[in-house]
Amino acid sequence: MTSFLGVKSMARWVSSIGIEATLSGMIDFLDQDFRRWPEFDKSPRVASHTPFGVIELMPTSDLDSYSFKYVNGHPSNPARGFQTVTAFGVLADVHNGYPRFVAEMTLLTALRTAATSALVARKLARPESRIMALIGAGSQSEFQALGFRAGLGIEELRVFDTDPAAVAKLTRNLEPLGFRITAADSAADAVTGADIITTCIADKAHRVAVADENVAPGVHINAVGGDCPGKTELDPTILGRSSVFVEYPEQTRIEGEIQLQDKDFPVTEFWQVLTGEAPGRSSAEEITLFDSVGFAIADFTALRYAEAATRDTEFREDIDLIADPDDPKNLFGLIGAGVPV
Ligand code: NAD
Repeated sequence: MTSFLGVKSMARWVSSIGIEATLSGMIDFLDQDFRRWPEFDKSPRVASHTPFGVIELMPTSDLDSYSFKYVNGHPSNPARGFQTVTAFGVLADVHNGYPRFVAEMTLLTALRTAATSALVARKLARPESRIMALIGAGSQSEFQALGFRAGLGIEELRVFDTDPAAVAKLTRNLEPLGFRITAADSAADAVTGADIITTCIADKAHRVAVADENVAPGVHINAVGGDCPGKTELDPTILGRSSVFVEYPEQTRIEGEIQLQDKDFPVTEFWQVLTGEAPGRSSAEEITLFDSVGFAIADFTALRYAEAATRDTEFREDIDLIADPDDPKNLFGLIGAGVPV
């Protein structure tokens, strides 16, 4: 039987152990899988672009398990009452190809994106970082904030969104959890004096959510929202002043902030910083920039983590997904003789 973790169960599981504890556990799992990066099958995700948005499939595999995620990105969705990003995913056994675990991944994607951002920032941001500017206060934003508190102890946020209601929502959600939050009047106001800048806006355009002149030396930029061709959120000049770190260059050159740079724009693969094969931050003045687009290996990890943490719990249920007759050659027998043809 295939095991299933749906939205309500995912939410109950995360609540039962706490969001920050979930994020901390996921950071550890990501650290393990990023360190064994060469073991995975890798390819840029398969994207179907339409005037409405994008629908993507994200596959990867080690020799033991195979995973894929189905995910959409529709920046105009919230205005119509839908979410910008939704997802589900599958983990399968490589030895026989049977899917063994299916999970909702809308919540799981928000958790894995925040955990990845925190893992990267823990390695690249200045250790004394205390203040984070958050540009974009939509669905990902609270998860990002909690990821940075779990990973780096960040408790002070300066938040800007073009929609003041989104900032009010974030404040309602995070102030009771102990964050100190300032609603900024502009992105420039938010990033001034910040140690870390997280951008997670949704707009299918080359936007400048953060301008070059507002980015001070020594800042770590966690650029989450520019993740699709034709969709970026930073002043491209910032990249020329930064050391840029990526997940998988072949995908990031298509989708990330670096899509607007030359094909050979220098980047460092983050997994190599973790293993010590490439340098991370080299000085307190250096601007480090994580050009995050979201890569399949992080989804594999998120599924692996959720599967392991919910095994033998009431959060999981069996689903009848794969036809599995006793005689593997008698698939027809499941329907049976006497069925009108
Ligand atoms: P969302 O639609 O819920 O929130 C986006 C917010 O950005 C909205 O509140 C909107 O008002 C605000 N915004 C739009 N333009 C702005 C601007 N110029 N300045 C300030 N705020 C602005 O979307 P979400 O689910 O929070 O996702 C945010 C982004 O992150 C999306 O672009 C999504 O594709 C991306 N994303 C990336 C990853 C990754 O792994 N890198 C993972 C998930 C989502």
